[in-house]
Amino acid sequence: ERLSNDFQFIEVGRVDPPKKDIITRTNEFVEVYQSFGERQVASQAHRCLDCGNPYCETGCPVHNYIPNWLKLVTDGNVMEAAELCHQTNTLPEVCGRVCPQDRLCEGACTLNDGFGAVTIGSAEKYITDTAFALGWRPDLSHVQKTDKRVAVIGAGPAGLGCADVLVRNGVQPVVFDKYPEIGGLITFGIPEFKLEKSVMQLRRQIFTDMGIEFCLNTEVGVDISFEELLNDYDAVFMGMGTYNYMKGGFPGEDLPGVHDALPFLVANVNRNMGWEKNPEEFISVEGKRVVVLGGGDTAMDCNRSSIRLGARSVTCAYRRDEENMPGSRREVANAKEEGVKFLFNRQPVEIVGDGAVSGVKVVTTQLGEPDENGRRRPQVVPGSEEVIPADIVLVAFGFRPNPPEWLAGHDVETADWGGVVAPEKQQFKFQTSNEKVFAGGDMVRGSDLVVTAIWEGRQAAEGILDYLDV
Ligand code: FAD
Ligand code: SF4
Repeated sequence: ERLSNDFQFIEVGRVDPPKKDIITRTNEFVEVYQSFGERQVASQAHRCLDCGNPYCETGCPVHNYIPNWLKLVTDGNVMEAAELCHQTNTLPEVCGRVCPQDRLCEGACTLNDGFGAVTIGSAEKYITDTAFALGWRPDLSHVQKTDKRVAVIGAGPAGLGCADVLVRNGVQPVVFDKYPEIGGLITFGIPEFKLEKSVMQLRRQIFTDMGIEFCLNTEVGVDISFEELLNDYDAVFMGMGTYNYMKGGFPGEDLPGVHDALPFLVANVNRNMGWEKNPEEFISVEGKRVVVLGGGDTAMDCNRSSIRLGARSVTCAYRRDEENMPGSRREVANAKEEGVKFLFNRQPVEIVGDGAVSGVKVVTTQLGEPDENGRRRPQVVPGSEEVIPADIVLVAFGFRPNPPEWLAGHDVETADWGGVVAPEKQQFKFQTSNEKVFAGGDMVRGSDLVVTAIWEGRQAAEGILDYLDV
C-alpha cells in the first residue's frame, strides 16, 4: 500500500544501491555497486513526481522516457520497462552504470533540490539486467529486411548505436573493429569496478542474435581498405574515437616511469581478461608511489586501478579545485573512500628524476576569471613550488582526435583540431563531406561520454536511412 502514496519522495529518501565492502573493492576488479532488489527499486522509482515537463529527459542525452519506465518498474512490469528503455538507448545497462548521472538526468531531476534526485541510473541498470536475466530479448520479428548494407567502422558506443538503429530498420550493418571484442573504450578503457566485462559480452551475443555482423581483429586501413568498404557497401559510418594522448608540454615527460593513462588501463584489462599478448605492456605499480595527473574520468580510473594493483600510495594532482573537476562526483567520492589522496589546485610544471622518475614538481594555483567555456582559469601562486615524490606517474590529460591519413584521400573534411566534420543539423544528419560517409561519437565531438556517442551513432543511422531512402 506504500506504493500508492503520492508523497513517497518525502517519506522515502533517496537511497543508492549498496556498495561492496571496502576490502573486496580495493583488492579486486569487481563492480563496486550491487543491484537494487525488487521492492527497493519499486520504492525508489515511485519517488518520481512524474512532472508534466520532465527535466530528466532533457538532461539525458538520448532523451530516455524516464518517468514512463520508472512507473513501469514501480508496478513491477520490468519486461515492458526494458522494451521502452531500448526504444531510445542502445546500451541502457551500460549507461545505468557509467553515465555521470549527477550532471545529466539526475542533475536535472526536480527532486535534486534538497530531497535527493530519483536514482534513475540504478533503475535503468536494474531494468535491463533483470529483464535479460528473465530471458527478455529485443524482438525484431516485425522488421522488413531491405537489400541495403552499411559498413560501420568501430564497435564503440557510437558504432553500436548506429548498428542498432540500422538493423531495427532492416538495413544490414557489418561492424569492423581492430580489437578482438566489441565496446571500444567501454571494454578497453573503463575498468571493471565501474562495469564488468561480462556486461558487454552478453551484449555482443544479443547484438549478434539481432543480426548485427561483427568483423573483429580487423583494422580498416590495414587489414581491409576504406576504398573496399566504399565500393562494397551502400554507406559507411565511422565511430573510431579519439586516441591522441594530450601531453603537459613540460620537462621530464619522457622519463622512465612516466606513462600515458590509456595504455596503463588497457594493459590491465588485457591481463585481467586473459587477452594479454605482450606481457611487457603491463605496467606494475605494486609497492610504488603513484602520482596521477588530471581530474577527469580517466584520471579517476587510473587512481582506483593503482589502489587495486597494490600501489604503496596514490596521489592525484589536479590544477583546479574539486568543484571544477570534469569527472563524475560519484567516482571522485569512491576514489577518496578507497584511499586516493587528492591535491587540488596543483599544476605540474616538471617531472623530475635522474634516469627515472623520482617526483613531480607542482605549483599551487588559485582560480581566476572564467575562460571562454565559463570555467575559471587557474593562476599560479608565486613561490609555491613543491615536489611530490613518485616512482610512477600516470598522465591523464585527455585525448584529441587522430583521424587516419587515408581519410584525406576520400574527401572527408576534418576540422583544425582533428575532429571529423559531420554536422547534426543538415539534410542527412551526421553526413560528412563525402556523401556516402557518416560519422559520430568522440571522433566528431572530441572525447566525451558513452551516452553522447550512442546518441550520435543513433542519429547518424537516421541520417543514413534517409540518405538510402528506406
Ligand atoms: P570508442 O569507444 O573509442 O570506440 C572506437 C572504436 O573504434 C574502438 O573500438 C577502436 O578499436 C575502433 N577503431 C578505431 N580505428 C579503427 C580502424 N582503423 N579500424 C577498425 N577499428 C577501429 N564515458 C562515460 O560516459 N562514463 C565513464 O565513466 C567514462 N569513463 C571513461 C574512462 C576512460 C579511461 C576513458 C578513456 C573514457 C571514459 N569515458 C567514459 C568516455 C567514453 O568511453 C567515450 O566517450 C566513448 O567510448 C566514445 O565512444 P566512441 O564510439 O566514439 O569511441
Ligand atoms: Fe541518465 Fe544516462 Fe540513463 Fe540518460 S542514459 S537516463 S543520462 S543514466
